[in-house]
Amino acid sequence: MITASTFRLDGRLALVTGSSAGIGLALARGLGQAGATIVLNGRNAAPLAAAAQLLRSEGLTVHERAFDVTDATQVQAQVADIEKQIGPIEILINNAGIQRRGPLHEYAHSDWHDIMQTNLNSVFFVGQTVAQHMITRGRGRIVNICSVQSELGRPGIAPYMATKGAVKMLTKGMAVDWGPLGLNVNGIGPGYFKTELNEKLVNDPTFSAWLTNRTPNRRWGEVQELAGAAVFLASDASTFVNGHILYVDGGVTAQL
Ligand code: NAP
Repeated sequence: MITASTFRLDGRLALVTGSSAGIGLALARGLGQAGATIVLNGRNAAPLAAAAQLLRSEGLTVHERAFDVTDATQVQAQVADIEKQIGPIEILINNAGIQRRGPLHEYAHSDWHDIMQTNLNSVFFVGQTVAQHMITRGRGRIVNICSVQSELGRPGIAPYMATKGAVKMLTKGMAVDWGPLGLNVNGIGPGYFKTELNEKLVNDPTFSAWLTNRTPNRRWGEVQELAGAAVFLASDASTFVNGHILYVDGGVTAQL
């Protein structure tokens, strides 16, 4: 029987990468409000500590781990430490990501390398490392943050689209390979949300007007509107949902 308690995450530990700001922080807050203990992550210790303090002041149970998700050695050490010192990671949200815009014919190879490392390779590094622990327990939830750009293009962001398209298919591959071992791996595809990553677009009135008109809900998304999808995919309400990408986009991907 489904009740409100089916969506509760009490006693479960969730690692949310890139959660010192933006979407990751909102997802961490939502999982915490549903009862989970949270491990926040980001590279820079000061904003991470401030985010942890903020969530603690709201009554949530929060740990913080500063590490770079593109560094496989750091990832392995930090995940092992979390498992030993805090507890088994039952929920992983692979959220850390960057944007580097630019004309494709002039796109710097260093930017290509950075965006692939951050948006795609990290999902494999962190996903594989955490999954190894989850597989020994025969259970675990992984949610990879995709994008409407997993499906649709815009000028000047082809490398970003390549990473997010790949994360969508990596999500399905993880579900196929790890489903038989007890894991559920799904994705969330956010539409446009006002965060630092989108600062240039937020400050561009022409883009904002275009986006508002292009979106069936006729507005930008608010980051807290992503939390329900994360709680659902982390909870017992989604035990048979595997390899699915849940778009939270105000209807953008439903319309030409
Ligand atoms: P954001 O506001 O720029 O926040 C990014 C977070 O990731 C920060 O906490 C940042 O902290 C952390 N981070 C970046 N690189 C990292 C690394 N190498 N290791 C660990 N942490 C790292 O970004 P956002 O808009 O919330 O985006 C979050 C995710 O949602 C990304 O995957 C993005 O592609 C996706 N997304 C966003 C939108 C949108 O509208 N905003 C739409 C679709 C998808 P540090 O800099 O301190 O490391």
